[in-house]
Amino acid sequence: MSDDTKQTPEDLQRFLQEKMGNTIKIDLKAHAQQAEEDAQAVEANRHKAMNFNYKPREIKEYLDRFVIRQEDAKKVLSTAICDHYHHIQNSPSEDDWRDYKKQNIVLIGPTGVGKTYLIQNIARLIGVPFVKADATKYSETGYVGGDVEDLIRELVTQAGGDIQLAEYGIVYVDEIDKIASSTNTWGKDVSGHGVQRNLLKLMEETEVPLKSAQDVIGQMQSLIQFQTRGKVDKKTINTRNILFIVSGAFSGLTEIIKKRIGSKQIGFMQEKTGSNQDDLLVDQVRSVDMIEYGFEAEFAGRLPVVVHCNHLSAEDLFNIMKYSEGSILKQYKRDFGAYGIDIYFTDDGMKALAEKAAGERTGARGLMTVCERTFRDFKYFLPDSDVKAFVVTDKLIADRETTLNDLLTDPGRDAAWVLKWKFKKISKILSREFGVDLSFDLDAARYLSELAAEKDEDLQDFSEAYFREFQHALILLASEGSGSEYVLDGKNIKSLGETLEAWIKESYRDKNSQ
Ligand code: ADP
Repeated sequence: MSDDTKQTPEDLQRFLQEKMGNTIKIDLKAHAQQAEEDAQAVEANRHKAMNFNYKPREIKEYLDRFVIRQEDAKKVLSTAICDHYHHIQNSPSEDDWRDYKKQNIVLIGPTGVGKTYLIQNIARLIGVPFVKADATKYSETGYVGGDVEDLIRELVTQAGGDIQLAEYGIVYVDEIDKIASSTNTWGKDVSGHGVQRNLLKLMEETEVPLKSAQDVIGQMQSLIQFQTRGKVDKKTINTRNILFIVSGAFSGLTEIIKKRIGSKQIGFMQEKTGSNQDDLLVDQVRSVDMIEYGFEAEFAGRLPVVVHCNHLSAEDLFNIMKYSEGSILKQYKRDFGAYGIDIYFTDDGMKALAEKAAGERTGARGLMTVCERTFRDFKYFLPDSDVKAFVVTDKLIADRETTLNDLLTDPGRDAAWVLKWKFKKISKILSREFGVDLSFDLDAARYLSELAAEKDEDLQDFSEAYFREFQHALILLASEGSGSEYVLDGKNIKSLGETLEAWIKESYRDKNSQ
């Protein structure tokens, strides 16, 4: 084997054939293709990461596409990320490094409000590997729980084995509040302080071996390598450039902040309405509060950026569904789409989902719970039915059982709604293209959709092409018409040319008679 850490698919195939006979075959071509794609992805990320060239506003704008609210967090994180990666690129001398304070970050906020999501999106944008784990998983010795150094090794895996890229990575440790000493309930041999100290070592600068002390096979491989070759390849990861982000809900932190800032300011804050009081308080958080909470001063000192994510209201959850590019509704559209079923959501339907999700008190995670519960039976029964489309309204959310039964007895129940929805979209496109406001009644909509179906064409493409045939008349109508809305019905759509001509003449007449 050329590399002690890698086995080729050919090795694996040989091994399996020896054990299980020649019937075992591995698709070597697919493997090679996958390996090639992986290598290209690593290379692309490497290029992005090594040539970091973003401004804070660009990162913020990217985050805006996915993360709703959390404006302060987005701004502060974008700036800290730019500082960090610019510093790595532009600080070649050791002196630069000695005086530099790495922008490690504490993210405070309740569960499910986008803390992880923010960092995931940043990592994806800038092309660096990202790992996340809970602080409670680790123990001081590394025996009982995991070893914090595993996080660094995981970065290498995430970086497709590219150590240099891993050294640019982001490590995210959640539930860090649970290892703060004043609130922890650790036993004798598992101490939060020990884990803080171990993390601290990584945050400063250290070389982490690629193979952990517990990795017996890995250690033996190195030993054999040493015996046969007289040396072991340098296989460590330097943590100097790795960015650390720790997060947690920090319940009880507001009490500490309250005590520090005093009642006068709190009274002043209470006059500000419309915001969650806890959110207003946590906005004032300082490193001293973290120390008071139970962080060692050294640990808090290595986390200079303290950011806070807010609670999400039902309205925020609605906006997440409707506007976030990562909206969970997209997943449901794909899931039902796999059975040839289109799912649509009305605003009222989304509002009802958001209200229910807010009641779960788990932030946007509540959306996942509520959607799963709501659509579970639909996912089970609809694929065997004739339902081709259905609409999620507030009625469906209020009584999903009845709606499902109605749909199963009348599969075309929502077809008219869907058709109207599609033609509203087509109206908008036509208005943009020709400047005329056309609307369609249900008969006109049915007529065009049947024509499109006969030709096996996409309805929108077909309709655009259909109207383009009459573009001169449409443009004339736009310039001569009164700007009013023209309604196409089952009759006048069949002779569109004549209909448009009549409308144009009418508008001439109207103009001249004025
Ligand atoms: P936490 O704050 O506990 O780290 P996450 O970031 O993991 O929560 O949120 C869980 C999921 O909920 C995300 O993957 C994302 O899909 C969604 N989500 C959470 N907050 C937001 C938000 N502010 N905007 C858009 N989606 C969000």
